[in-house]
Amino acid sequence: MPNPASTPRVLLVTGASRGIGAATARLAARDGWDVAVNYTRDEAAAQAVVADVRARGRRAVAVRADVASEADVLAMFSRVDAELGRLGGLVNNAGIVGMKARLDEMDSARWQRMLAVNVFGSWLCAREAVRRISTRHGGPGGAIVNLSSVAAVLGAPGMYTDYASSKGAIDTFTVGLGRELAAEGVRVNAVRPGIIDTDIHADSGDRDRPHKSADVIPMHRPGTADEVAEAIVWLLSPASSYVTGSVIEVTGGR
Ligand code: NAP
Repeated sequence: MPNPASTPRVLLVTGASRGIGAATARLAARDGWDVAVNYTRDEAAAQAVVADVRARGRRAVAVRADVASEADVLAMFSRVDAELGRLGGLVNNAGIVGMKARLDEMDSARWQRMLAVNVFGSWLCAREAVRRISTRHGGPGGAIVNLSSVAAVLGAPGMYTDYASSKGAIDTFTVGLGRELAAEGVRVNAVRPGIIDTDIHADSGDRDRPHKSADVIPMHRPGTADEVAEAIVWLLSPASSYVTGSVIEVTGGR
């Protein structure tokens, strides 16, 4: 087994221009990681996260790429190789939801885009990471953390069963890839957030959902992006060295 302490400290966080991804990039810098900050639309927001990482004394680069595009993902990993050096960690955080709807109201273009970003994008990025960090490929080992959702367990009826199903795929992927890579120095885990106070809820047509949902959360409040990011950076760290193929709930008890 490679010594976790010798693992290169270069981390790629997808969808890191805001929300949970941005919080993860900042906390990872606190923990000593250099960070590649991926985004699709908001370059100014991504550059603000880069500035925060650099203010903590770590290197950072903003990389525009749509994780659903294989060409974009290949170019993104090449840039990280060239500008930050050998990868040691990946956070598959980029994810989208759709407008609140029943299944019989949804069109298939929505499903194709959701699976392309949430599932295909996670597979693509994980594949490129494994080719760099697995000992099978001459790499030094490292860690991958996927973003699931408590929707994978609850199913999100009447809201977004398509999104929930895409996160169910992430749970299964995490277990399978964790076992596939367990003897190759790569740990693969997922975090399953509950209702977290980020901009993603505006994309489902209900910006105030986090605070309106307090009654269904045993802790009576939504979580923060930082509270999810703390679990993610723990899973990236040597402190979780015997944890792989696991899904950790960060839900306030929901
Ligand atoms: P968010 O605030 O909407 O942020 C999404 C991030 O992903 C943005 O940085 C966005 O960048 C980026 N992104 C979107 N599509 C992308 C693509 N195709 N390629 C690359 N980047 C892309 O979301 P969040 O609430 O932080 O959620 C992060 C993850 O946690 C998602 O996987 C989500 O499903 C999961 N999650 C969230 C909650 C919650 O309540 N918030 C609960 C459970 C699970 P641009 O703005 O630059 O496009």
